[in-house]
Amino acid sequence: MKYAFDHLQTINELLRAHNKIILLTDFDGTLASIQEHPDLALLSEEMRQVLLKFSQNKTFFLGIVTGRSLRQIKRLVNIPKILYAANHGIELEGPGIQFSSPEAKKARYNLWHVYMQLFKSLRHIEGVYLEDKGYTVSLHYRLVKKARDREFVTNTLDRVIKPYLEKHILSLSTGKMVYEIRPPVTWNKATTIQWLLTNYFPLEFSGEALLVYLGDDQADIEVFTAFSGQRLMVFVGTPADTSAADYYVNSPEEVKSFLDLLYKQKDEGNHDLLTEGKRAI
Ligand SMILES: [Mg+2]
Repeated sequence: MKYAFDHLQTINELLRAHNKIILLTDFDGTLASIQEHPDLALLSEEMRQVLLKFSQNKTFFLGIVTGRSLRQIKRLVNIPKILYAANHGIELEGPGIQFSSPEAKKARYNLWHVYMQLFKSLRHIEGVYLEDKGYTVSLHYRLVKKARDREFVTNTLDRVIKPYLEKHILSLSTGKMVYEIRPPVTWNKATTIQWLLTNYFPLEFSGEALLVYLGDDQADIEVFTAFSGQRLMVFVGTPADTSAADYYVNSPEEVKSFLDLLYKQKDEGNHDLLTEGKRAI
């Protein structure tokens, strides 16, 4: 993986080779820094202004791909007429689309049961945050400070979730300091994006458009792996050798600089991204 700002000329050439850009991005840890508690996350006004420009320019199709619920992500980003792929693709909303997975709806009863069992077993543990996101349940343990308590959380989750996993009626995945309990659907960020590419994006964005994807977590790494090659995949954070992303930037602040450069490059056609990049760093 290469540091994006050291390879602006190559990135520039890739952008020049495509008239249309599908820009898909994760939210937490990518557009906004991760907070101790997920309710504290905020999109900075500067970042919102950058995203707003993309949403109003016909060269780009902007979408947010997140593990958060649709209701939450719409409130946090607050930009109309863009695509929101929420709950890892279980809920989609955007121009011409409104979808929630029927399999996910069926799983809600089981999810509610798991939520109640976990709530009863873990409510005395300091720092546990159990989040009901409608179609998924998140068990956050970032604020659980004692090792003994963390172990208890993991053991409890294993015990509660085991029968559901064995019967394949729920599934479990992990993110940064969070367990995600999900319906047994095959939707994840990568399959969602593949489905959108095949079925959703307008004709002018099919075929020749460049897919740019930014993300920082395990679910995003699945996207990098699925779409390596003629796409622009950007990991956010300290680079790990195992990731299939082409480039990395260090932080949401650098994501903002990167998006600024990307926008200028396509907006002003013959703009020199390389010189601009040096100035921005
Ligand atoms: Mg993230």
